[in-house]
Amino acid sequence: MASIIFKRITAVFLTCLLLSACGGSDKSAENDKLSVVTTTGMIADVVKNVGKDSVQVQALMGPGVDPHLYKATQGDLGRLQRADIIFYNGLHLEGKMGEVFEKLERIKNVVPVAGRIDVSRLLSDPVYKDAHDPHVWFDVKLWSSTIEVVVEILSNEDPENAAFYQQNGKDFNTELQLLDNWVRTQISTVPLDKRIMITAHDAFNYFGRAYNIEVRGLQGISTLSEFGLKDRVDLVNFIVEKQIKAVFVETSVSQKNIDAIIEGCQQKGHDVIVGGYLYSDAMGAEGTPEGTYTGMVRANVNTIVKSLR
Ligand SMILES: [Zn+2]
Repeated sequence: MASIIFKRITAVFLTCLLLSACGGSDKSAENDKLSVVTTTGMIADVVKNVGKDSVQVQALMGPGVDPHLYKATQGDLGRLQRADIIFYNGLHLEGKMGEVFEKLERIKNVVPVAGRIDVSRLLSDPVYKDAHDPHVWFDVKLWSSTIEVVVEILSNEDPENAAFYQQNGKDFNTELQLLDNWVRTQISTVPLDKRIMITAHDAFNYFGRAYNIEVRGLQGISTLSEFGLKDRVDLVNFIVEKQIKAVFVETSVSQKNIDAIIEGCQQKGHDVIVGGYLYSDAMGAEGTPEGTYTGMVRANVNTIVKSLR
């Protein structure tokens, strides 16, 4: 532990030199726990499951927050500076935080958990061919591969607890394999011709690939992307043609684009309703079932199955 504390103090000192605005105390040094900061709640959930009581975890992006548009606040910079380890998604999910991570990775462990997944398992961005779709958490099996990254990094930073992290990682992995089976069973109850999901942005391509559902988003894989009148008309025509009866709203994306689609369908004489609210790029509130990764997946799948069946 002594070496960790020394490293921590050195890291805090170096960070203060590198970045301005170094306020507050290093909480982790006080209570002797590894201090981890993550961007999304989904990543924080993996760290909590692996680190349990030995780790103090904080997610910068709470419920309803869109990671594509998120900019680090002054308070975030302080939290990032004081952390022992920073985990983020990578693959350009956090489109506006690249520079911050670049600066911090010179002095501490800054790890993109999805960026560590072998590219052969990733989906390409349909627009930017060199880029990959960052929404890997929608394929439960694929997301479970981030566990080993977290186990490895926590163990390196805190070798005394390595066996503990390894066991927790194993247990969480088992839980996610069961969850993956559950999702598969649930989706299989929806007839194949009804398995079409319409959402505000293209967050669900991994979900579609893993569980055999056709997915269509109005916006591209980033909410930063523009969409034009043609995209809207194309999607309306698709919904009318396929006689789709429900579209989904995402909790981290404005509903107005989906409302415009519903209106467009009505003008063509086809009634389509909001099938429910999906947790796409952010989890639910802390303390609720949807405030955990497994709860978020279950809530989404229940909503999808109920609306499409
Ligand atoms: Zn997204």
